[in-house]
Amino acid sequence: MSVERNPQAFENAPINWVPAIVLLSTPLLAIVLVPWYLWTHGINPAVWVAFAFFMAWTGLSITAGYHRLWAHKAYDAHPAIKYFLLVGATLAVQSSAFDWCSGHRTHHRHVDDEYDDPYSSKRGFWFSHIDWMLHKYPSGQYDYKNIPDLKKDKILQIQHKYYGLWVVLSNLIIVGLAGLMTGDILGTFIIAGLLRMVLTHHFTFFINSLCHMFGTRPYTDTNTARDNPILAIFTWGEGYHNYHHYFQYDYRNGVKWWQYDPTKWLINILHKVGLAKDLKRVDDVTIKHAEVVMQFKRAQERISQVGDLSLDDRLTIFKEHISAEYDAFTQTVEEWHTLKAKSMELKRTEFANRLHEADEKLKEQFAQIEAKILSHSERIQHAYLHLKGKSAQ
Ligand SMILES: [Zn+2]
Ligand SMILES: [Zn+2]
Repeated sequence: MSVERNPQAFENAPINWVPAIVLLSTPLLAIVLVPWYLWTHGINPAVWVAFAFFMAWTGLSITAGYHRLWAHKAYDAHPAIKYFLLVGATLAVQSSAFDWCSGHRTHHRHVDDEYDDPYSSKRGFWFSHIDWMLHKYPSGQYDYKNIPDLKKDKILQIQHKYYGLWVVLSNLIIVGLAGLMTGDILGTFIIAGLLRMVLTHHFTFFINSLCHMFGTRPYTDTNTARDNPILAIFTWGEGYHNYHHYFQYDYRNGVKWWQYDPTKWLINILHKVGLAKDLKRVDDVTIKHAEVVMQFKRAQERISQVGDLSLDDRLTIFKEHISAEYDAFTQTVEEWHTLKAKSMELKRTEFANRLHEADEKLKEQFAQIEAKILSHSERIQHAYLHLKGKSAQ
């Protein structure tokens, strides 16, 4: 999909009435009803358990379902899981899977483009957070050409066709049933229904707005997406958005073992019990390579910022170190490319029994390359320490 580059069409975009009413009235209702309910009824622990359950179910259905399963095909799930996630995502009231995934694939393809990215951060916080849904902007009119795979799915077709009905019924029946279980129907609707929906909305919207504004860019600076560990807490691990925009098919967003990504953990657990398969992961060398390329870029920027103004010895040494290190790194990358070509060739020509033997050797060689890339990274850090005068020397 490509949008006509006409600023007028954006300025005069008509109001998108149904989403506008839902998205503007629900937070207002929550602001009034939640304090009123707490004041008059006090805290009912069962209602808050229901709230936590619906927060987790609907939030993870968006991240593990709409996002990583359907929009990116980062893994495959057992039908029972798929439909459980589909119901959860419907409860979240974030449009049909067709709309959500088509818009999201367009966002990745045209990230930051003012006309083609449906929630372009280049149009500011308000637009990328919520306004893109409040008006019928040209960038928000999907032709669904980018979701041929999803269009084949019968259940997704039905969800799209009867989306409004699905949203109303799921929220009335499922939240209503939870209300019967807690013994406080009104409280369950206000806290586990309304408040939960508003919070899940805005936590998801943060990814399009704040995650394109605040945070670090360890993997690429060719787009505005940021890694933000604080936002990861609210978004079930989706705060590692810089990684995600660079390696969008990886089922992990927080790729390091210590990064908070409950969506990744959920997919891992489902995989362990046989309910998820074909988990796609980018290999460690490729990830580390992207990081080191960014480190060199930052070092180069640092040099060019102060380069002409300072004749400091430390800066000269830093420049020399970085330049020598970059030559060594280029050589490592060449070795890595040669090894990758060799590995492809072997897989094409070797017989299965010999391939296994060759594979072990290749694994070792890839590990050596990874260690080399890591040592380049360490030496860049060391050069920085020296530049700051913190070095032992
Ligand atoms: Zn994004
Ligand atoms: Zn994505």
